[in-house]
Amino acid sequence: NINDTYGHFTGDRFLIEVARLIKSLLHEQDTLARLGGDEFTVIMEDIDSLVDVASVAQKIIDTFDKPIKIENREFYTGASLGISIYPDDGKNYEELVKAADTAMYQVKESGKKGYKFYTRLMNEKITQRVLIENDLRGAIAREELFLEYQPKVNIATKSVYGMEALVRWNHPKIGLVRPDQFIGIAEESDQILPLGLWVAQEAMRQTKILHDAGMQLVVSINVSSKQLEDPSFVDTICALAHDIGIDKSYVELEITESHIMKNVDYALEVLNVLDKRGFLLSIDDFGTGYSSLNYLKKLPTKTIKIDRSFVLDIDKNPDDRSIVAAIIAMATSLGKDVIAEGSETRAHIEALRSLECAKVQGYFFSKPLKIELFKEFVTNFKCDAT
Ligand code: C2E
Ligand code: CA
Ligand code: CA
Repeated sequence: NINDTYGHFTGDRFLIEVARLIKSLLHEQDTLARLGGDEFTVIMEDIDSLVDVASVAQKIIDTFDKPIKIENREFYTGASLGISIYPDDGKNYEELVKAADTAMYQVKESGKKGYKFYTRLMNEKITQRVLIENDLRGAIAREELFLEYQPKVNIATKSVYGMEALVRWNHPKIGLVRPDQFIGIAEESDQILPLGLWVAQEAMRQTKILHDAGMQLVVSINVSSKQLEDPSFVDTICALAHDIGIDKSYVELEITESHIMKNVDYALEVLNVLDKRGFLLSIDDFGTGYSSLNYLKKLPTKTIKIDRSFVLDIDKNPDDRSIVAAIIAMATSLGKDVIAEGSETRAHIEALRSLECAKVQGYFFSKPLKIELFKEFVTNFKCDAT
C-alpha cells in the first residue's frame, strides 16, 4: 500500500526503518535478514530458554504499536511471527523456514498480530486441509458426494413432517468425511457455490420423487452466507426448483443466525426475495449468533431452530430451560414457528413437550439416513414419545 500510494522510495525508507527497529531489539550475535517483500527472518543463537525467544518476539510485536515516522508522515504496521527451533522443528534451513512459515500463517489466519511456536500438529492440520481443499475440487464430478436425511418430527401430531438434507463426502482414500471437516474449507475457497447448488438440486430432486409417491414432506437445505452473497443464487435455485417441478413451499432454506448477522442488511434483502419467490426460510443454530430483536422482527424467516447447545441439558439445567422457554415465547409472539435440534433423549422430548415445542429433530427419533432408509423410516413411523 505504501509503495502504491507514496512511491517506492518511501516504501524502501519504511522497510529500512522496520529493519532498524527490529535490529535494536536483538543481541550482537543474532542475525537479521529480509527474505523478500514484507518478510523478515531473525536467527537467534545459543538460546537458554524458550522464554527468551518469546520475550524477544513480544518486544518485536510491541514495537510496532507505535506509528513509524517517515518525512513527517505516520505509518502503521503490525507483525505476525512464526517461530521454529533447531533441531526439533527442522534439521536444515529449508525445514526451519517452512516450519516458521507454517506457524506464521496460523497467526495471520487468526487475524491477530502475535507470535506462535511451530508444532507438529499444525503441520498435520495444514496437510489435511490442503488435501481436502484439492480433492474437493473434483468431488462433485467424481460423484463422491451424497445426501443423508434427518427426519423432523411433530410430537403433537405424531408425524414426520419433513427432513433436513445433510451432505456427506465419500473420499476415496480417507473414507467418509463429515461436513464439519469440509464445509468451512469450501466456504473459504468459494467451492461452496457449486457444492451448495449440487446439494440443493439433489435434495429437491429426491424430495420431488417422494412427493410423487404421496409423501408430502418439507425438505430443509443448508445455505451458507457465501451463497446468499452470490448475485446469481436466487435465480439459479429458482430455475433448479422449476426444472425439477417441485413446489417451493415444500423447500425450506436454513441459514445460520451467525451467517445472517455477518451482513444483516444484505441478508434481509436476499431473504425477502427468496420469501417472495415462495421458499420457506429458517434461522439455524438460533441463540448462538447475537441477532438483535429489531432484525428478528423484520426477517421473513418462518421458523427458528433452537441450537442444540441449549437442548443438551434442557432436562437438567434450569438456565437452559429458561432460555429455551424465552426463545419459544419470543418466537410465538412474533408469529414464528420453533424447532429444537439435537433432541437426543426421552427426557429432552418430555422437557420440550412441557414447553410446548412440538417440532423436534435429533437422535432420539433418528440419525441422518440415506434416502432408502429414510423412506422406510417414514413408512414405519410410529411416534412412541407419549
Ligand atoms: P447443522 O445444520 O446444525 O446440522 C445438524 C447437525 O447435527 C448434523 O451434523 C447432524 O448429524 C447433527 N445431529 C443431528 N441430531 C443430533 C443429535 O441429536 N445430537 C447431536 N449431537 N448431533 C445431532 P452433520 O451432518 O455432521 O452436519 C454438521 C454441519 O455441517 C451442519 O450443522 C451444517 O452447518 C453443515 N452442513 C451439512 N450439510 C451442509 C450443506 O449441504 N450445506 C452447508 N452449507 N452446510 C452443511
Ligand atoms: Ca441446519
Ligand atoms: Ca443447526
